Amino acid sequence: MSGMLELQEGLKKIRQRRLMLWLTIVAYVPAMLLALQSDGGWNTVIKAFFVWLVILCVVVGMAVVIRCPECGNCFHTHGPTFFPVRRCVHCGLHVLADKKGDDRIDSEKS
Ligand SMILES: [Zn+2]
Repeated sequence: MSGMLELQEGLKKIRQRRLMLWLTIVAYVPAMLLALQSDGGWNTVIKAFFVWLVILCVVVGMAVVIRCPECGNCFHTHGPTFFPVRRCVHCGLHVLADKKGDDRIDSEKS
């Protein structure tokens, strides 16, 4: 078990990286539209696409390596698979566990 402050810091980092990931994905359409409207034509579109792809790889990489403050495993990855879910794929810790409380069902308590 880790301290509450450590948990908050860890979850905050996870939320920031998840936000960056979603913003990058959402930015794809407006970025492509802007590139299409520019004077460069398809050349600009292809360049914009590769720039976006590089940024996506970086933010995905950052989301992959982030570790769960509770169990210490990679929050979003189980083996080679990346799951951008709202819970730790190992211990089930929710990304908002420091705000909403830990809602995992504790089988030992029942
Ligand atoms: Zn975990």
